[in-house]
Amino acid sequence: MFSFEDARAKVIEVIAARAGALAKIRVSETIDISRDPSEALGRILAEDILADRNYPPFNRSIRDGFALRAADAATPGARLRLIGESRAGVAFNGVVGELECVRILTGAPVPRGANAVLMHEHTRVEGDFVIPEQAAHAGQHYVLAGAEARVGEVVVPRGTRLSYAELAMAAEVGRARFQVSRRPRVAILSTGDELISLGDKPGPFQIRNSNNISLAAQVALAGGEPILAGNARDEISELRARIERALEAEVLIMSGGVSAGRYDLVEKVLQDLGAQIFFDAVAIRPGKPVVFGWCCGKPVFALPGNPVSTMVTFELFVVPALEILSGHAPDPLPFYKAKLAHPVAEKGTVAHFLPARIAWPSGETGGDPKIEVLLWEGSGDIGAVVRANCFLVIHTSRLQLEAGEWVDVFPRRGKL
Ligand code: AMP
Ligand code: MG
Repeated sequence: MFSFEDARAKVIEVIAARAGALAKIRVSETIDISRDPSEALGRILAEDILADRNYPPFNRSIRDGFALRAADAATPGARLRLIGESRAGVAFNGVVGELECVRILTGAPVPRGANAVLMHEHTRVEGDFVIPEQAAHAGQHYVLAGAEARVGEVVVPRGTRLSYAELAMAAEVGRARFQVSRRPRVAILSTGDELISLGDKPGPFQIRNSNNISLAAQVALAGGEPILAGNARDEISELRARIERALEAEVLIMSGGVSAGRYDLVEKVLQDLGAQIFFDAVAIRPGKPVVFGWCCGKPVFALPGNPVSTMVTFELFVVPALEILSGHAPDPLPFYKAKLAHPVAEKGTVAHFLPARIAWPSGETGGDPKIEVLLWEGSGDIGAVVRANCFLVIHTSRLQLEAGEWVDVFPRRGKL
């Protein structure tokens, strides 16, 4: 049985090797952030964004005060003649000469001749004269033209996941329209005779289909386009028909029906369809029965049906696949470190991912981040994940952990 690290590495290896065969899903599309910037959030940039000119485009003051020659401020008893004003958008056109200065405001161009900005608070103004009350050094309080970016420089590289700063940068350099990778279309198919849709009224032993909802949300968070493919009953011909139809998408994610019970038919049906199975179990709890295979030319993940198992196995194994397919290099497993608040003792031979909360002491008191495992009823307990902001990772090599030990923390995306 694979460890979770090896299973994840296997997914990355297979998807990366075959991404070319799925090339049609890597094509890019144009988006326009001047219409709705939120559409670009989380998308992967498919071209380099370049600076259209130097940034800042001129020597830009970062204080309100006076532009002057630094040497003049150092001259004892100097009185500088105020010869004009430079404000944001309206430059002073002349040259600052010896014992002269120009009133300047934040964001304004530093006039020629001046090589420092002296803050207003460090001066005294007497009519048309300014008396420096502090020395200034050359280059003080302004940003040189081109210091932030040179014309033609790549300011946001292809492959970057777009968030607010990247969008601000695109806007700054005048790129309203640019290419992003098309999101992989991911079919989501649940299985189980007990499942009903959200709109239906459950009978006493029926369960609402929550996995299709959490999976759709996780797909969207990972940069994919979720396609809800419904639910298949635990019956071979229906499963087969629904899998075949769902495989019109570019990736298939299923949940349920992969344990060893007599109604767990998913792996068998995939095999009947000629699937190549890379693994069908991983040494983790929750989530041990998890299938990754290739069926009819498409990657297929069949995740265990217990809601928390579905969530955790998606984060571990499906996220890197969707990252590759959306044109982004897969991130290494994002483990934080925290100090365990209490001892933990697990048994068995598998790694554990336990719903937990990490908290950082307030900035003033300082101290280490602490993690506390939450009470839970096992892998059907969605509420435990709602209360959690992370999962404590317990590796097979260390199933007993002491209070105060530094441990691995797997963040809940969007919560940490
Ligand atoms: P299975 O993996 O099919 O044996 O299902 C394991 C447990 O997860 C059972 O209690 C199922 O009722 C539950 N389950 C399976 N699929 C879903 C789903 N789509 N939504 C909510 N619970 C599910
Ligand atoms: Mg089932």
